[in-house]
Amino acid sequence: TLDVAWAQRWARESAAAIAAAKDELVELDRQIGDGDHGENLNRGFQAVVLKLDLIPDAPPLIGDVLKTVATTLMSSVGGASGPLYGTAFLRAAKVSGLAELDAHAVVALLEGALEGITARGKAQVGEKTMVDAWSPAVDAAVLAADAGASPEDVLVAAESAAAAGAEATIALVATKGRASYLGERSIGHKDPGAASSVILLQAAVRACG
Ligand code: ADP
Ligand code: MG
Ligand code: MG
Repeated sequence: TLDVAWAQRWARESAAAIAAAKDELVELDRQIGDGDHGENLNRGFQAVVLKLDLIPDAPPLIGDVLKTVATTLMSSVGGASGPLYGTAFLRAAKVSGLAELDAHAVVALLEGALEGITARGKAQVGEKTMVDAWSPAVDAAVLAADAGASPEDVLVAAESAAAAGAEATIALVATKGRASYLGERSIGHKDPGAASSVILLQAAVRACG
């Protein structure tokens, strides 16, 4: 079940997975950015874990956990990705009225995240950003939910579409963010934010147990 305990596991699994992938994300960002994406996110998610540890009992609602993640990322991640992921988790928290997510609520959570990223960063699909992971993830989630998939399987569908989307950023020219300074030379490298987005969605799947 995707309840508040799931949301807390998601946050903690994300922190562990980002820590494990830190060097890989730094390396991706070194190719087309300034080489700090892994450090930025690791700092942010370690702060999230500290924040969650301070909350003694499980908060009653999933949205409370997502809002804690959002505000902590906004205040502790330097760089473009902090406000982008912060706004993503804040908008994802629009499912906050629920104690447990059904398949359509998972879609709403993912749509909220994508809306947050695009509201904040104004990137469209194809600009070689994290949007190229989240947008196909949302599309796949909608299809899965409409076909009657379980909430867990909606997440699985979203994660695998995000992974394909992130792979596809390799061939793209960056036109948003720091990587856009490279123009055509950004071709041939995976977007770090798309890669970290896949890691977060993998963590969401793992948190299902
Ligand atoms: P910075 O570029 O400030 O060092 P990070 O390295 O932490 O920040 O994050 C870089 C990632 O942020 C990129 O790989 C890309 O996915 C994402 N990004 C940058 N600008 C935008 C934008 N306008 N919209 C969506 N994502 C963006
Ligand atoms: Mg960077
Ligand atoms: Mg930076």
